[in-house]
Order: sequence, then structure tokens, then C-alpha cells
Amino acid sequence: MKYKPIAEVLSKLESTTKRLEMTKILTDFLKNVDKEDLEKVILLLMGTIFPEHSEETIGVADKLMIKVINKASGSDEKEITKMWKDTGDLGEVAEELMKERKQSTLSKDELTVKKVFNNLEKVSRAEGKGSVSDKVSLISELLTNAEPLEAKYLTRTVLGTLRVGVGRGTIRNAISETFNCDKKLVEKAYNLTADYSKVVSIAAGKGDKGLKKVGLDIGRPAKSMLYQKEESIKDGFERVGRPAAIQYKYDGLRMQVHKKNDEVKLYTRRLDEVTKMFPEVVKAVKQNVKQDCVLDAEGVGYHPKKKSYKPFQEISKRIKRKYDIEKLAEETPVVLYIFDILNYNGESCLGKPYKERLKILKKSVNEKKWSIELANQLITNEEGEAQEFYDEALKKDQEGVIMKNLEAPYKPGSRVGYGVKIKPIMEPLDLTITGATWGKGRRSNWLSSFVLSCKKEEGYLEIGKLGTGLSDEQFKEVTKKLKPLITKEEGKEVSVKPEIIIEVAYEEIQKSPTYSSGYALRFPRLIRFRPDKEEPDSLERVKKIYKEQSKK
Ligand code: ATP
Repeated sequence: MKYKPIAEVLSKLESTTKRLEMTKILTDFLKNVDKEDLEKVILLLMGTIFPEHSEETIGVADKLMIKVINKASGSDEKEITKMWKDTGDLGEVAEELMKERKQSTLSKDELTVKKVFNNLEKVSRAEGKGSVSDKVSLISELLTNAEPLEAKYLTRTVLGTLRVGVGRGTIRNAISETFNCDKKLVEKAYNLTADYSKVVSIAAGKGDKGLKKVGLDIGRPAKSMLYQKEESIKDGFERVGRPAAIQYKYDGLRMQVHKKNDEVKLYTRRLDEVTKMFPEVVKAVKQNVKQDCVLDAEGVGYHPKKKSYKPFQEISKRIKRKYDIEKLAEETPVVLYIFDILNYNGESCLGKPYKERLKILKKSVNEKKWSIELANQLITNEEGEAQEFYDEALKKDQEGVIMKNLEAPYKPGSRVGYGVKIKPIMEPLDLTITGATWGKGRRSNWLSSFVLSCKKEEGYLEIGKLGTGLSDEQFKEVTKKLKPLITKEEGKEVSVKPEIIIEVAYEEIQKSPTYSSGYALRFPRLIRFRPDKEEPDSLERVKKIYKEQSKK
């Protein structure tokens, strides 16, 4: 298959922000793709060549890409850098420069999907001496043969910044519509495999029947189950029923542990493999878990001498670390708190009620203090007891508690309410930026006054503007992230694709006709970026907090 139709469909997708239209564009396209090309096509449409759970990445930085564009187009690096500063998107720069060059090239080989995969796979595997020039040659070979539009999307794919606004939900809907499959089954298969390229070939080949058979395999990470928020222990019981399992909400790193024979693998909630970075956890599992299994757990950093917990930030520096791993493991070791079991001896436990899974868990793990333990837990139907347990968790520097329904199955990837988290403070909101204004004077090169939106079904509703509390560095950073997402510019106002999610603190939620949600945040402040989140909080959640605060 040629790469050109993919570039064309990406361009069509980029021209709209409407999810329904995107689904239609994708469905019309996927219908005509040969079965054997579907896996690769889905990955390219998602801006990558590797499935989400893969350890491999293309791993090319802007600077190297500038060298590639230089080699392929003949334009000098300074000129490329200048154009890049103006547009904020090397994809567009490559497109422009390849247009100029087009007239002067006589013969080209048409780009195929296979060639793109071949070269980019080699790029990701290139290591050691000479690897930089190998990478430059491999990518510029693609670019030289690319049409301008192909160059744009190839460049963005190589950099991992495709950003045409196609979310996983749209891919799910498109697969379901193209191959006439149940949307829920498509989603479920994705949550179990974390790989839409796998899901699309099952959907195309075996339809609903095939999707139903997808299971959770040891060695391939699945999406983690997530929890809804509740404001109090009482509300928690109402949601999960009585009695409930109440556990510390540890402030650490979610770890999905896969053990098969003597091999142990660790994955984060974003499905990044972190096995090598946490050797003490691997060792503890090998020594104290007998059967093959998949465990759901939280790795919490602690002070080895004082035996007190360290906050998540302390262990976050161990992620992606390539050297001094053993030294860091000694300074900030991690204790593994296990709270669920998803596969036992090769058999899925997902459908079993939580109380059963807890029993299996208990017999599977040989607990060892400050190394590998089951999550601290109380099973009760008593609000008073639960409240005491919650206070104790806070005293031990943990975030709060998670209350879990004892009868519920495990649903990968869902925030289904089989468990709820309870934390003390007024919850910050996760919101997406949908617009901004170019600043004045000193700030004229930066976007400011960011329009914040929450989610409503398929769309977004505005709820406030965030303009203060950012450092110069942060203004620069946000501007860089937002520039490629601009969809419309009118005077100083811009609209952007809702892709950046930030955590926002505020004093109060007020009713307000100013914004489309009907609510406004008083004194919103940026807490942090949330690259790990795919969607902002919903209007329902805003309404709920508004109601809660009115009661106080
Ligand atoms: P946060 O409020 O920190 O942003 P979140 O929205 O990122 O939470 P949630 O699914 O709401 O994620 O909270 C669950 C997270 O809490 C899990 O991903 C896990 O890392 C952590 N956690 C800590 N202790 C437990 C526990 N006992 N059971 C389940 N998850 C736990």
C-alpha cells in the first residue's frame, strides 16, 4: 500500500474538530484498506509505528529532524530553525521546503507503508557509534521520496507529534462502524490488549466473535481499572455498597506486575515498561510469588533507614533512568503494595468478584515487610471505623483511601465505580485548553489567557480562563505546546484542539452565564500538566463539586 492515501486522510482529519466527521472520514477510508495492511494503517493513523505497550519508540528529537530536513531539502539548518520558530511545527516546515524542492527533483520512488515501517523500525533500533548518521540517512531517504503533504505527516510521526486530533474513542468508533462490530466489545478488546492494531485485525477477520475471545495474557499489559471520586466516606459506601474493602490510597507509582516462570515484567499505568528501573521489586516478586500471575499494585518509595514513606516525586526520578539504577534502588527503595490479581496460573480472574480475588491474592503472595505486602485494608460496613482508617492513612502521609465493592469484577480501562477514591481537599479539576489570546508587550510572542474547558459527551464546554500564576518558562512551554494545535485565529484570539490537559486549582465554582458550561472558576491556578490523562473532567463532576461546596 502507498503512504500517500494515509497522508491525505490525516490532512482531512486535521481539517475538522468534529468527532462524528472524523469517524466518517476514517470509516470511508478503512473500508477500502486491504486486510493485511490494516494493522500498520491504524498505527500510522495514531501517529506511530509501535503499539502503545511496546517498549520501542522512534525516539528522534527536533534537532536531528532538522538535520534530516536539511539533507532532504537542501535548505540550510539556520533557515529551517527560523521557519520552525515561526510555525512551531517541523511538519509544516518540511512540507513547505519539499514544495520548493519538488520542481528540482526528477525521479522519485513512491513511498509505501512498508518502506516507512522498515526505515523507521531501523531508526528505532539504531544504537551506538554512527547511529546518528544512520538515522539521518534512513529518514531523509523517506523524505526525499515524499510529496510535500507526505513529508508533513512523516515528520510529525517521526517526532511523535502527529496531533490531528484523532483520539482513541474515535478510532474505536471507526473500527466498530467499519467492521460492523459492537462498540463495547471493541473497547473491551482494546482495554485488554492496549493495541488497536491488534483489535482492528480481529474485528476485520472474526468480528464480534473474535473480539469476545480476547483475554488478558500474562506478559502483555492491559489497561488498569480506575476509580471515580467521592467526597466523603458516606458517599463512598453509597456507591460501592456495604461492607466494602477500604484501602490506603498510596502515593506512589501504579505497577502492573506480570510473572511467568522466572520472568517478571513491570508496567506503569501508561503501559510503559519499567522492569529494569526497579530491580528490587523484580527480586521481591521472584522470591515471594510462586505462581505465574498478573498483579495490580502500587510501588511506594520509602526512606530505608527511617522506614517512612517518600512522596511520589522521589520515585518518579527512577522512571526512565538508564544508569545508577542500583544506587537509586538503595537510596529510595520501593515497597510493592498489591491490591488485586488479574490472572492466576494462566487463568483470568477478571470476572471473579473482588472478595474472591482477594482470597487468591492472599494465598499467592508471601508478604515481607517493606518489600512486598498486600495493601493495608479494612473490611467494614461501619462509617465510624472507615473514617478512623481514613484519618490513619492521612497521618501516614498517604493520599486518602480507596473504597472497593467486594462483589465487583475487574474492568480494565474503566472508571466504572467499582471503587471510589476519597481525598481530603477541594478536588482540583483536570481541564483542557481550547483557546488562548496572544499576549501584549513583553509577552507578545506568547499565548496567554488560556480558555479552560470540561467535557460534555462528545464535545467541550468552557468554564474559565487562566491567565495568572505562570512563570515565564511556563508561558513559553504552553505556547510551544499549543502552537501546533491552533485551528483558528481571529485577531489575537486563537482556538486550539483540546489536547493539552492541565490540573487546575481554584477557590470556588460559581454559576455564570459568561461560559458555555454555565459555570465559572474563581481564581483558577495551574497546578501541573497532566500528559497521562486523555480526557478532562466532565460537566457532571463540575456540577457535583458545585453542589457539595454549596452544602458547606
Ligand atoms: P489522582 O487523584 O491521583 O489524580 P488519578 O485520577 O490519577 O488519581 P485514579 O484512578 O482516580 O487515578 O486513582 C487510582 C490510582 O491510585 C491508581 O492508579 C493507583 O496508582 C493509586 N492507588 C494507590 N493505592 C491504591 C489502592 N489501594 N488501590 C487502587 N489504586 C491505588
